[in-house]
Amino acid sequence: MKYISTRGHAANEQFCDILLGGLAPDGGLYLPEVYPQVSATELAAWRHLSYPELAFAILSKYCTDILPEELNPLVSSTYASQAFINARAGQWIEDITPLTYLGQEKGVPLSLLSLSNGPTLAFKDMAMQLLGNLFEFILKQRGQTLNILGATSGDTGSAAEYAMRGKHGVKVFMLSPKGKMSAFQTAQMFSLMDDNIFNIAVEGVFDDCQDIVKAVSNDHAFKAAHNIGTVNSINWARVVAQVVYYFKGFFAATKNNDEKVSFAVPSGNFGNVCAGHIARQMGLPIDKLVVATNENNVLDEFFKTGVYRVRTAKDTHHTSSPSMDISKASNFERFIFDLMGRDASKTAALFKQVETQGFFDISGTPEFALIEEKYGFVSGSSTHKQRVQAIREVHREYKQIIDPHTADGVYVAFKYLEKGVPMVVLETAQAAKFEETILEALNVPAPRPDAYVGIEKHPQRSVTMAANVDLIKAFVHERV
Ligand SMILES: *Cc1c(COP(=O)(O)O)cnc(C)c1O
Repeated sequence: MKYISTRGHAANEQFCDILLGGLAPDGGLYLPEVYPQVSATELAAWRHLSYPELAFAILSKYCTDILPEELNPLVSSTYASQAFINARAGQWIEDITPLTYLGQEKGVPLSLLSLSNGPTLAFKDMAMQLLGNLFEFILKQRGQTLNILGATSGDTGSAAEYAMRGKHGVKVFMLSPKGKMSAFQTAQMFSLMDDNIFNIAVEGVFDDCQDIVKAVSNDHAFKAAHNIGTVNSINWARVVAQVVYYFKGFFAATKNNDEKVSFAVPSGNFGNVCAGHIARQMGLPIDKLVVATNENNVLDEFFKTGVYRVRTAKDTHHTSSPSMDISKASNFERFIFDLMGRDASKTAALFKQVETQGFFDISGTPEFALIEEKYGFVSGSSTHKQRVQAIREVHREYKQIIDPHTADGVYVAFKYLEKGVPMVVLETAQAAKFEETILEALNVPAPRPDAYVGIEKHPQRSVTMAANVDLIKAFVHERV
């Protein structure tokens, strides 16, 4: 399998070549040259596979430069049940991503596909855990090391740390704004005592942390000399790992492969739902892909009007579904490339417009009509009030406590229920992570998985530093 860039760069690159990198050299995102197609026979056979077996079957089609006998153990150890079971209170998770049937909503079967049983209780673990094992494998094979520098306001940083902890050849330097994360998030990250994890509490806000990471990344000499890398959501391996649970969710929600399913996906950077799009392109019978956003409705605006308009920092809201607070959707270019008939020059021209004027508008083009007709995308957005209401309603009607991001998904899913098509909402985090909003909605806290009870009292380790690029560089330099 060869990989190409959405902006035309087509060196002879394979999965392992693009694994450690970010953007393609021309500024585009990597995609496979073609989406491998799943035959009816294959789909029938896959229905009965366990999660690790299914993951191996799908990833084999994309990681053709890793020998099957090497890929298989990587995938099975990643999705071994131990890594994903302990995270849910009082429940034995055998499926990795169990489907919870809620009931009939206006005559349509409604379910939650729970993707938050990994160590940080959010769906990013699903891909990040695999990335940790893939990185270790490839670095060992090539005799290289990698030093991941990241900035986090909570969720992504902890998923990365839990994926990379104890991995040979990898160190993680994670900047977070001092005192700005929740006590739970802080405890989750700072209680890690692994030698290869460095938590740096920066005296500043999240943007200061991000600016430092950008400054270091732009210092090409420093970056090269210190093998600096990132684990952001445009990484192709993260996207492809997420394709697996769409198949799993489809099988769990249907009795046979002639049926169709719709998925509602709480969205920010378009990484999760992009994987749904890829599953659909591979031939999985998905009816609608329902893109659910919060008040940061860049994507909803595009799907409704054909205008993709990125926001300034000032126009980006801090919401009660914070992991979806984005000003632009960094994976979106992958879908636009497909929508434009895989025309790289058209894609490049559109994103050039975003850089120069802040938006592009395809409302007058024939492609606009294809978004729903051909690709099944629809969208909606939710406000704090609607999200809180959705948490209450799901609790009252179906006795489940959902987190605020999943609530955005449920709220928007309700607008696209269609007779005969089961609706599966992706549960992207556990409610226990968002205590404040759950208390506001239900007046009771969400139950915490046993392993996380009292986590705030565990010993913590971090260093506090001023928001100063040179100091951070010196810190990294001394430790790699
Ligand atoms: C990251 C995240 C999202 C958004 O996913 P994208 O891939 O960025 O669209 C939604 N919910 C939760 C809980 C997340 O952590």
